[in-house]
Amino acid sequence: MLVLVDLTRLERIGAHSHIRGLGLDEQLEPKPTGQGMVGQLRARKAAGVILRMIRSGKIAGRSILMAGAPGTGKTAIALGIAQELGADVPFTMLAASEIFSMEMSKTEALTQALRRSIGIRIKEETELIEGEVVEIQVDRSVTGTGNKTGKLTLKTTDMETIYDLGTKMIDSLSKEKVTAGDVVTIDKATGRITKLGRSHLYARDYDASGAETKYVKCPEGELQKRREVVHTVSMHEIDVINSRTQGFLALFSGDTGEIKPEVREQINQKIADWREEGKAEIVPGVLFIDEVHMLDIECFSFLNRALEDAFAPVVIMASNRGQARIRGTNYQSPHGVPLDMLDRVLIISTCPYSENEIGEILRIRCDEEDVAIQADARDLLTKIGSETSLRYAMQLITAAHLVARKRKSDKVEMADVQRVYQLFLDEKRSVEYVRAHQEEFLFNEKSADASIGR
Ligand code: ATP
Repeated sequence: MLVLVDLTRLERIGAHSHIRGLGLDEQLEPKPTGQGMVGQLRARKAAGVILRMIRSGKIAGRSILMAGAPGTGKTAIALGIAQELGADVPFTMLAASEIFSMEMSKTEALTQALRRSIGIRIKEETELIEGEVVEIQVDRSVTGTGNKTGKLTLKTTDMETIYDLGTKMIDSLSKEKVTAGDVVTIDKATGRITKLGRSHLYARDYDASGAETKYVKCPEGELQKRREVVHTVSMHEIDVINSRTQGFLALFSGDTGEIKPEVREQINQKIADWREEGKAEIVPGVLFIDEVHMLDIECFSFLNRALEDAFAPVVIMASNRGQARIRGTNYQSPHGVPLDMLDRVLIISTCPYSENEIGEILRIRCDEEDVAIQADARDLLTKIGSETSLRYAMQLITAAHLVARKRKSDKVEMADVQRVYQLFLDEKRSVEYVRAHQEEFLFNEKSADASIGR
């Protein structure tokens, strides 16, 4: 008997899966809502400046602290930066407490995290293969006038057309008495070329997915038949591959152990040589350390020094603590971060959301989770979100959807939200409950004459 099975795609939805970027416009100004991001305009604008700094690739060892109350979007903004940077720029996420749970010293764990956040773009020259999708373009970025104008886009798998157009392009350049390196626009239909300024000619390759991969510089007189294949690996991956005790398989198991300083020194030297020969480029990425107040004084002093290294990534830290004890000392400091560290960071603060913003974030989350919800039910959820917390209201979406489905409806109604609000307590009601039933709990730490909250 033939049994037909209905295959349904299973997709996990994470807490931040609705975040697709920072929601900035071309000038890196934040839109009120964009790419899943809502409000928090000042912090997003500041993140846009950081993004520009990272993209320019020139700065090393800058550090940013995102400070703000729980649930105000610190992690969301950091992930927005990661999305904007794209897959080629390494972005490592770490909860500070992970440093203490690894089978290695704290400083080794931090070193590995830092080196994971530095990419090395290695270039390799190969021949163009017939049938590849190639785009020829005139790039203006060299002249600093932006590379969008003056771009000829030719997407074809037909090499003859590509070379024909390339040759025409060059011919026309010489007819107009312009030398290679001039910036031109080419009318795709007629092949007419207009001179704009100076730059270089490039052919640009596309990989199978259509995503842009690399450029080929075309010298005077010919469309060069070579292209450069670019791989980006992290410094940590190079360390592991070259560490004789571990071998590259450790990359898959994650069990890399400690890596000897001599190995790292040799690798730094090798990379410096490659850079000099033009074979490699450093791509400074981002290390995001969440709950940074969980680091202790030794970690902070190590980080302070590590940030001065030429190979340091941009370090973004986040904390939801106000005045807190610096771990490993008896001193208090803002966000639990020592003053010398605070002195070298740029601080971005996040602020609480308005009711409208909470409503908008909840709407985006409902879409993300594919939950249809009636307008009044959503208003109620928004009210709950502004009176308790955004996170709590977000959790109720899934629960209310399950309740709706139980009564065979696909749309969440007011009653469903009310039901889950009664079933699951928010933090405030949970504290009240504990207060009321203190005596019945096991290991009641309340002293005989004191009670919670007094
Ligand atoms: P904590 O201090 O507790 O770690 P946080 O400041 O890092 O909190 P997030 O985890 O970023 O807060 O935010 C809580 C939830 O709200 C996440 O699901 C996040 O994606 C979402 N969120 C927060 N701010 C925004 C925003 N501005 N736009 C869209 N979603 C947001």
